[in-house]
Amino acid sequence: MKKLGLNGFHDLDEVMASPKAEWKRPWWVRSVDRPTVQIDWDRIERFDARRHLVPNLKQYTGDTEFQRLEELRKENCNKWILDGRRGYTLRDYALSMAVRTGAVDSSFIGHWQNAGGSGHGWQMFSPEELGVPRWEARPEENSRMIRAFARFAGASQVGFLELDEHTRKLIYAFDEIDGKKLEFEDVDKAYETKDKRVLPNKAAWIIVFSVQMSRETMKRTTGAAPTPISVAATYQAYARSRFIIDQLQTFLHMIGYQGLMGPSWNALGIAPALGVMAGLGELSRLNRMVTPEYGPMQRIFKMVTDLPLAPTRPIDAGIMRFCRTCKICANACPTKTLSMDTEPSWEVKGLWNNPGLRAYYDNSPKCAAYWWKSTVSCSTCISSCPFGKQDGSFIHQVVAATIAGTPTLNGFFTRVSGVLDTNRPKDPDTWWNQNLPPNRVK
Ligand code: SF4
Ligand code: SF4
Repeated sequence: MKKLGLNGFHDLDEVMASPKAEWKRPWWVRSVDRPTVQIDWDRIERFDARRHLVPNLKQYTGDTEFQRLEELRKENCNKWILDGRRGYTLRDYALSMAVRTGAVDSSFIGHWQNAGGSGHGWQMFSPEELGVPRWEARPEENSRMIRAFARFAGASQVGFLELDEHTRKLIYAFDEIDGKKLEFEDVDKAYETKDKRVLPNKAAWIIVFSVQMSRETMKRTTGAAPTPISVAATYQAYARSRFIIDQLQTFLHMIGYQGLMGPSWNALGIAPALGVMAGLGELSRLNRMVTPEYGPMQRIFKMVTDLPLAPTRPIDAGIMRFCRTCKICANACPTKTLSMDTEPSWEVKGLWNNPGLRAYYDNSPKCAAYWWKSTVSCSTCISSCPFGKQDGSFIHQVVAATIAGTPTLNGFFTRVSGVLDTNRPKDPDTWWNQNLPPNRVK
């Protein structure tokens, strides 16, 4: 096809396939060869997700302390409802629990077997069952197709990774909820036994996507503590991910490929690490991913597939550099869980961390125990991050653009951020008076 100019693209296919044409990012986000967090792949081993804190807190606290925390949670919950505590009323708890129930179950190979629709009796046929060839296209076209589908289903950002000797280490060794082993084998189809889930070696790509969280909702804390309303932002993102995961698995099945996930929202692999490697965002002081578009106000999900995909690259948007001097989240943390060190470190803090990164490792058991005491999970650190401010204000653009190239100004902009009140909570009761816009469908 015709050339477009010396500095331009060489043909229309290249335009369509280029990362810029596929995914329009803010101008201050650069694609780079390696992520901004330093990685020592020799030290990284596949993480045993049974060491995750929240579903398995007992292993860190012991039985007696865990029992005490369980009773404390019930007692506090009961008392705060009866006292009419601001942000902890019955309707506030009902809000967070209602959205949470949509988020508890996903599946290794998908629910397409049961996806009959509303009584039409239509089946989710595979191409084989229909007697037609499966979908075949270049990886770039497949990536665009999956991004379009995932966005339509509700995803915010969509990136892709190829599984190689390094990135395979980001798939869990054991899943967190049922402790099943995750293994790769030379088989055609994924399968599951009572002890393990087996991923075919030919399933060599990962779709990584984020679901945005509501900052307006997450800000509804008491100032000192999270509330059932603020945690609803997290649960809603997890619940939405379930629909996207289900729909993606069904879509892949119907075009002749496998989409593999797991039994829980955090199943299969280390979400922030996969997000960073796929260029959705950078690692941060939160020891979570922060993105140029939404800051930390999103959750990350993943799916292994045998559909060939064109990988997206890590990014440098100045976020990890900004974290060195910012520390707003660590200061906001009521349990002092987050690192206050200026420089990231190679030294992990405990079994809940996976070594091999030069990161801001956190002291997570303190954080998890606090969740039990406050009766709901906490996100005070996440909601305080200046990168999460999404009002499109001019100053935010200037801050973000400047830190992308001038790390010495970070301290100055942290103070500006304080002036902007990015970390000020909002009255929980006002959440119920919002006149929210309808969900946007274009
Ligand atoms: S979730 Fe809450 S307790 Fe845990 S690190 Fe963040 S601010 Fe601290
Ligand atoms: S609040 Fe500051 S230190 Fe914490 S993640 Fe955000 S930018 Fe980094």
